[in-house]
Amino acid sequence: MPDTLQITDCTILPEAGAPLISPGFLEITDNTIRTLGPMEQRPAPGTATVIKAPGQLLMPGLINSHNHCAMTLFRGLADDLDLMTWLNRHIFPAEAASVNPEMVYWCTRLAAAEMLLAGTTTVADGYFHADSAARACRDAGIRAVAAQGVIDFPAPGVPDPSRNIEMLERFIDFWLGQDPLVTPAVFAHSPYTCSPATLLRAKETADRHRLRFFIHLAEARGEAGMLIDARGTSPVKHLQTLGLLDAAAVCVHSIWLDDADLDILAATGAQVVSCPQSNLKLASGTARVSAMLDRGIRVGLGTDGCASNNSLDMFREMDMLAKIQKLKDHDATSLPARQALACATTDGARLLGLPQTGRLVAGGLADMVLIDLQAPHLTPFYNQDLLVYAARGSDVRTVIVDGRIVVRDRKVLAFDLEETLAAVERLAAGLRAA
Ligand SMILES: [Zn+2]
Repeated sequence: MPDTLQITDCTILPEAGAPLISPGFLEITDNTIRTLGPMEQRPAPGTATVIKAPGQLLMPGLINSHNHCAMTLFRGLADDLDLMTWLNRHIFPAEAASVNPEMVYWCTRLAAAEMLLAGTTTVADGYFHADSAARACRDAGIRAVAAQGVIDFPAPGVPDPSRNIEMLERFIDFWLGQDPLVTPAVFAHSPYTCSPATLLRAKETADRHRLRFFIHLAEARGEAGMLIDARGTSPVKHLQTLGLLDAAAVCVHSIWLDDADLDILAATGAQVVSCPQSNLKLASGTARVSAMLDRGIRVGLGTDGCASNNSLDMFREMDMLAKIQKLKDHDATSLPARQALACATTDGARLLGLPQTGRLVAGGLADMVLIDLQAPHLTPFYNQDLLVYAARGSDVRTVIVDGRIVVRDRKVLAFDLEETLAAVERLAAGLRAA
């Protein structure tokens, strides 16, 4: 007998930009959306579990397309510093002192709690000890594209960089098809920390398993001068010359791009993840997102690691994406709220190769959130734009991932949050003493 869940009497936003259904119902069987529509079309509940949600809005779970989850340990450790001082004097030493499989497990679980409670149901993660991160996401009940990092320097978990591709293969072999919540992926750190040979081997490995290939690209202004064995005059041209840009390539940040770079991304089908708050806080710059969208480049939205944000709340991120682009373009019509919502839902889902998520549609995976609309800042609720410009993660009441209720009435049900908080506090105490 399959498990059936009905959510009823709510307002439904099936997809960014779609008309609202109100009052509506949605029915889930096991991990799949069976049907949805106006209340008068609701099938008899029979033995189904019913969640009545008047005054609430049901929408697709948000998709955080770029995070280094375990960096929750470093949130607030060092703020208001330029990128290289922040990295070299604070983050790299803290990582050297604390990163191990246990730290990655607990700190990723903390990130999962924060994200779930704020309505994120899928995260693309890239960090050291990716196996621990993947296990933490699985145990926390959040959907994850978990990427193993590749870099030409000794790194936690991969002390010998000559074995980085071998370790990558081992990670993929274990996680491919292992768990419905976890999709493995490849994260080549950047073209200034990976040689062309390493980049080519990492991409070949991703392609052989039909997986996403992530890379940080053009985050810093001077990156063209830092490329290892440059094959072009810009980071984008470097990757294009190496044949790395295609629809499975995900270029994170992509701030310092000229028109020719944008044309290359559009022609190759390569995708971009923008992380506006991290880029602002580190004063990296503002990506040309509206110019990317004009060319048909798919753009997802990410928080980046929370040490450079310092929040994993995707509602804040959507708000910032829309507003900073208007300022950059000197045009209040640039990047409308519904486009920001699409970047964080449907487009993020396709970007990560998970098109059965990111919208509420019969036959799709049951990843969704209920938002409490009965709040002063969401009253009156004329339309979905308010989700971008006024809603926040703390408005999320209930979260369903893969058909399972993981947050109910703002309480994490999927795992013991107190245990996770205590474990991270212990790790932070070790860092303070170091
Ligand atoms: Zn990053």
